[in-house]
Amino acid sequence: MVLRTTCLVKKGGIKVKINRTRLQEHFEIISQYGKIGETGLCRPTLSSIEKETFSVVTKWMEEAGMSVRIDNFGNLIGRLEGKNSNAPVLMIGSHLDSQPYGGRFDGTSGVLAGVEVAMTLTENGIIPEVPIEVISFCDEESWRFKKGVFGSRGIVGKHEPEDLERTDKDGITRREALIDFGCDPDKLDESVYPAGAIGAFLELHIEQGPILDVQDKPVGIVTGIAGPLWLSVKIKGFAGHAGSVPMDLRKDALVGAARMIGEINSVVKQKTGIPTVVTVGSLKVFPDSPNIIPETVDFTIDLRDVDLSRRNQFEQQIRTIVRNIATQHNLTAEIQEEMNLEPVDCAEWIQELILEESEKMELDCPKMVSGPFHDAVVMADACDIAMIFVRCKDGISHNPAEFASYDDLAKGTELLFNTALRVSSKLNPQVLSQYSTN
Ligand SMILES: [Zn+2]
Repeated sequence: MVLRTTCLVKKGGIKVKINRTRLQEHFEIISQYGKIGETGLCRPTLSSIEKETFSVVTKWMEEAGMSVRIDNFGNLIGRLEGKNSNAPVLMIGSHLDSQPYGGRFDGTSGVLAGVEVAMTLTENGIIPEVPIEVISFCDEESWRFKKGVFGSRGIVGKHEPEDLERTDKDGITRREALIDFGCDPDKLDESVYPAGAIGAFLELHIEQGPILDVQDKPVGIVTGIAGPLWLSVKIKGFAGHAGSVPMDLRKDALVGAARMIGEINSVVKQKTGIPTVVTVGSLKVFPDSPNIIPETVDFTIDLRDVDLSRRNQFEQQIRTIVRNIATQHNLTAEIQEEMNLEPVDCAEWIQELILEESEKMELDCPKMVSGPFHDAVVMADACDIAMIFVRCKDGISHNPAEFASYDDLAKGTELLFNTALRVSSKLNPQVLSQYSTN
């Protein structure tokens, strides 16, 4: 099959390029909305500051020739018509909300890159084969209502009634916040996309890890996004006087838990060359006194992998470690599953297109997996997805020190633009039949 796509990026024989200066200006403007300190950002979902940010981006979307709306989930969506307006849309986007003490590039990069793609198309008179929609998803970050990716879950029909009743720290429900934002939470179903309406989803995001920085590469191609398994573990022993109970008669829950945590880390670390990661990030000791032998310890386990069967094997090993060490220390152990999301693969065919376009740009993009979670994981329920990662300095993210250079962001955006044109052509059945050679 041969697709005449390269002609679309030529104008008078010159390859169309995104506007790096404009992209930087947009970043500099948008970074003022919710700015904390010199470089930080606090832009809560469904807040007045996010609404103001939406107004600015709406103006840019309209300049790009898009029709713009905020749906009932609080997503900002700009739509650029394609040659075949009935074809499934190509959706591009990320999120404009931020962590409470976050950086300027997480999420914002993907939305501004999408806007730049639309602006570049329009100013060069290029009509994409299928409609392109640029989206800023509502509440990717999850901290305000303690459950995130609300906007992406919404448009693929995975929202739940309890989503609306969740409250923030001030007791405001998501329902109230949506109404304040101008949305109608009683009409959420009207904002769900019918099956097949979204043809593909592309998300550009900063890596939020150190791999590209270490390899000195500006841009990477994501092959898959890890699925997190969250377990909570309760270890029970027996409290006693720290001065009187002999060592060999103790049931010290913390000694057992400490060994478990060490071995859980070792078992994953022993296997080199795999992307599996495990973290014990929370530990509660009871009664938490310097002169009482710890009676109970609660800790969490966050296990992530892009390969579900390998993650399942590690889970079994971890459960065995906890059981065995508990027995050796005369302790009891209870393990509860708190969250279990399956890993997601990025579509091979889109990865191929990204790779081809990156080679034309002489970018030498490494292929990599994403440990962090993104809206793209949710979108994979509805359509093929792909992600482009942009290097971030020292891998720092969710921190005001988060930094990506405008040169790197421009390269990623250029790659997104070239890829979007290729994907858009593949999504139009009329183009497929016109140019198919077999
Ligand atoms: Zn993000």
